[in-house]
Amino acid sequence: MNSGALCLFDIDGTILTSGGAGEEALRKAVRDFAGCDDNLAGVEISGRTDKFIAMQICRRHGRMASPENITAFINSYLEHLESLLPLKKGRLLPGIPGLLAALKQRRHVALGLLTGNVAKGAHLKLSHYGVWDYFEFGAFSDDSHDRNELGHYAVARATALHGKGFDPTRTFVIGDTPHDVACGKAIGAKTVVVATGSHSREELADCNPDFLFDDLSDVPAVLAALGIS
Ligand SMILES: [Mg+2]
Repeated sequence: MNSGALCLFDIDGTILTSGGAGEEALRKAVRDFAGCDDNLAGVEISGRTDKFIAMQICRRHGRMASPENITAFINSYLEHLESLLPLKKGRLLPGIPGLLAALKQRRHVALGLLTGNVAKGAHLKLSHYGVWDYFEFGAFSDDSHDRNELGHYAVARATALHGKGFDPTRTFVIGDTPHDVACGKAIGAKTVVVATGSHSREELADCNPDFLFDDLSDVPAVLAALGIS
């Protein structure tokens, strides 16, 4: 075991908002895939993996959720995402630039992604907003459609990269939805939620996270709460 801390970040609603680029890219991908418009009402998006969203789209439009159909849908989504990101007014969420810079300065902290985005979508979004290079590794929807499986991949990659395991009590899963809390608990990690996404402070409190913040703007307070010196 290693005495350091492992911080695993969700992307949407936690690090950034794409200003609607992600959802519009999904709607355009549905039009390409199914040949009709779909307002996505009733599709579970927030906190879900891209593959899980693609599976729902296949079923909703009478197509088999086969690997080929899922890949075709996601590839179309990624093409639209790349075009739409520069056209929308997305942004990094409060405190994120300072928090990532502060964590990166600490040699005992490992920084990774734990996200429902496919790796290419994560790269498109984080590169667009200038924060891709902060992250050493990630677990993505490419690994599994089930978010609760992703933590195991992230921990295995952190361990391989650092040559030592991280204590679960010093592993932090940082996200904005109840699904992030569930995924953190699935690996016995500490769960950190921030109410900058689509869930209120009250909804998030109901999932009993270890830490709950309105936003991450007070970087020293966030680091102190997590015991990262
Ligand atoms: Mg999120």
